[in-house]
Amino acid sequence: DPQLNQNYTFENFIEGDCNRLARSAGYAVAGKPGGTSFNPLMIYGGVGLGKTHLAQAIGNEIKRTLTDKLVLYVSCEKFTQQFVDALKNNNINDFVNFYQAMDVLIMDDVHNFAGKEKTQDIFFHIFNHLHQSGKQLIITSDKAPKDLSGLEERLLSRFKWGLSADLQIPDLETRMAILNKKMYSDGIELPSEVIEYVAHNIDNNVRELEGAMVSLLAQSTLNKKEIDLNLAKSMLKNFIKNSSKEISMEYIQKLVCEYFEVPIEMVKSKTRKREIVQARQISMYLAKLHTKTSLKSIGAFFGGRDHSTVIYACQTVDDLIDTDKKFKGYVADIQKKLKMS
Ligand code: ADP
Ligand code: MG
Repeated sequence: DPQLNQNYTFENFIEGDCNRLARSAGYAVAGKPGGTSFNPLMIYGGVGLGKTHLAQAIGNEIKRTLTDKLVLYVSCEKFTQQFVDALKNNNINDFVNFYQAMDVLIMDDVHNFAGKEKTQDIFFHIFNHLHQSGKQLIITSDKAPKDLSGLEERLLSRFKWGLSADLQIPDLETRMAILNKKMYSDGIELPSEVIEYVAHNIDNNVRELEGAMVSLLAQSTLNKKEIDLNLAKSMLKNFIKNSSKEISMEYIQKLVCEYFEVPIEMVKSKTRKREIVQARQISMYLAKLHTKTSLKSIGAFFGGRDHSTVIYACQTVDDLIDTDKKFKGYVADIQKKLKMS
C-alpha cells in the first residue's frame, strides 16, 4: 500500500513516558481493530512528536497480522483535495463509497479541517458510517479535541467518543534512545558524547533530533571530518540558525487560501465576495505583523491596493479578533501554521 510507509512500525517506535499511553492504546487497537472501546483512537501532540509514525505503525501492524482488512491512511490535506476534485468531477458518491468500504481509516492531522466546513461535513458522514459498522478510526491532531478551534461541534463530540492520548516531548533518556536506534538502523556509529550532546541540545521534537543527525553525517562526509564533539558543536550552531527562516507574503497568501479553501489567485482580484475579502484582509494583517514589508508594498502585492486599504484591513481584523471568537480562532490557527514553517 503506497499510503503506508513501511518504516513506521511499532518496533522502530521508541517507548518512553512521553508516549506510553498512546503507544499501548495503539497496540491494543492494532490487535483488535473496531473491537476495543478506543474508537476512535485520537492521537494528539505537537509537530514532530511521532503522531504520523504511531498512526502508521498501527496500520502496518494490522496489515501484517490481519491480512484481509482494508486499511487506509490519508492526510487531511489529501482527503480535502480529493473531495474538492470529486465535487468538481461530480463523483461524490464514488468518493464516499471508497472511504466507507474501509475496515480501518487513519486520518492524519485533522486540525487542518479547521475552517473547511464542506469537507468536515462529508467526513462526518463517513465517520458515522464506519463507526456504526464497527470499523476502526484512528485520528491524529496537533491539539486535544477540546482545544481544536474551527471544527464543528458535532465532529468534535465524535472525536471524544473513544480515547484521546497525547504524545509529549521525550525526556533526555528517550531522546538518546531514539538517536541510538536511528544510528543502529542506518548502520552508523557515533561517539556517545556526540549522541548525548545532540540529545541534550535539541529538546523540542523528534523530527529536529533526526534532522540534526542527518546534517551531522552530511557535514562529516562533505568536510571529510570525523564526527566528534567539535563537529557536533559547529553543526548545531548552523542548524539552529537555519531553522528560523523568513516569512514571505507569498507564503502567507498560500496558507490563508488553503485554510479557507479559496483559490489562491482570488485574493489579488477585485472581487468583494465575503469569504475572499476575509482571506484578503487576514493576509494583509499577517503580512503587516510578520514581514518587514511597508503598508504600500503589502497593498501593491494583494492586487494593487493602496496603503489605506491595508490599514483598514488591519483594523477590521483587530476588531473581529476582539468580538468574534470563531474568527479569533481562525487567525490563531493560521498564525500557528506560519510559525511552524
Ligand atoms: P508528527 O506526525 O507528530 O509531526 P512524525 O510521526 O512525522 O511526527 O515524527 C517525526 C520523526 O520522528 C519521524 O521520522 C519519526 O519516525 C520519528 N519519531 C517520532 N517519535 C519517535 C519515537 N518515539 N521513536 C522513534 N522515532 C520517532
Ligand atoms: Mg505528521
